[in-house]
Amino acid sequence: MRRVNFLILKLILLLSPYILLSDGHIFVYHRFDDSRYPTTNISTSTLKREFNYLREHNYKVVPLIDIVRKIQAKERVPDNWVAFSIDDGFKSFYTNGLPIFKKYGYPFTLFIAVKYTQEHYRDYVSWRQLKEIAKYGSIEFHSYGHGHFGRMSNEKIKADMDKGLALMKKHLNYSPKLFVYPYGEYDSRVEKIINSYRFQAVFNQNMGAVNGVCSNPYDIDRSAVVGSNAKDFKLYLYFKELCGVSFQKPLKYPKDKIVKTVEVTLKDKSIKSADIFISNHGWHKVKVNNGKIIYHANKKVYRDRIKIGVKVKSRIKLMVLSK
Ligand SMILES: [Zn+2]
Repeated sequence: MRRVNFLILKLILLLSPYILLSDGHIFVYHRFDDSRYPTTNISTSTLKREFNYLREHNYKVVPLIDIVRKIQAKERVPDNWVAFSIDDGFKSFYTNGLPIFKKYGYPFTLFIAVKYTQEHYRDYVSWRQLKEIAKYGSIEFHSYGHGHFGRMSNEKIKADMDKGLALMKKHLNYSPKLFVYPYGEYDSRVEKIINSYRFQAVFNQNMGAVNGVCSNPYDIDRSAVVGSNAKDFKLYLYFKELCGVSFQKPLKYPKDKIVKTVEVTLKDKSIKSADIFISNHGWHKVKVNNGKIIYHANKKVYRDRIKIGVKVKSRIKLMVLSK
C-alpha cells in the first residue's frame, strides 16, 4: 500500500510539478475611479490592465466559493486560480467596476456593510442595485455597521451581525455563507463570536495566497489592490501561502506602541532563514533555528492596526494586531 502511494506521488511529481507548487490568490477592491479616496481606489484603466494580464497569462478567474470548497476539501488550489472580492458596497463598483467585470465575464463576490445600503448613504449601492449586481456575482456579508469589532462588546457584535443578516434575508432573500471582518480586524474573542454564525468561510485582509491544504477556512488571506500600483498586483500573484506558521509574540497590540520581540515557530524545521515584516518598518532578514524565529525588533509602530508577517522565499503569512 505504501509502495503504491509512493509510486503515485512520484508519478504526480513527474507529470505535474505545476499542481504540487500551486496556490491561488484572492484580491480585494473597494472603490473604482473614485479619486477622492486614493488609498482605497483603483482606476478602471488599472483594473483593465490587471484583467488583461490575467487573461494573457492563462489565469482562471473563479467564484470565491470555488476556492472555499477546495479549502474545505483540503485540496490544493491550482496556482492559476484567482478570485475577486469587493468590500463595503460602494456605488462606484456598480457604476464603474461592474461594467468591466461584465465585459471580461469575471465572477466576483461583493461583501456589503448592510447599514450603508439600508440607510441610503449616498456613496453606497441600493437594494435595487444589489439585486442587479447579484445577476453577475454573489453578495455576501461584511457586518451591519462596519464597526471595530475588537472594541465592541460581545452583545453589540451579535446585535450588529443579527441585524445585518436579517436585512439581507429580507431584501435579497439570502442567508450569507461568507463573511469579511470590518477593517480586517479580529482577535480570538471576535473570532469565537463569528464562528458561532457557522459561515462556510471568513476572510481577512492580509496579503498572501491560498494553498488550500493548509489554509484555515476562517482566516483566508486576501491581498488588497489599492492605489494604482499594477506592479504590486503581479508581486501578489507570485506569493504562496506559508504553511505551518505559529505566531507567538506579540499576540496583542503593544500598549507602548513598541514591538519588542517577534517570536514565530515554523513547522518546517529545515528552513534556515526568513524575513519578518512589521508595519511601518517593512521586511527584516532573520535566522531560523530549528523552526524558531526570535527577532528582537524594538520597533515603534504608528498605526492603530499593525501587521506582523513572516516570509520564506515567496511563501508568506501575515497576522493583524489591533489597538
Ligand atoms: Zn470594509
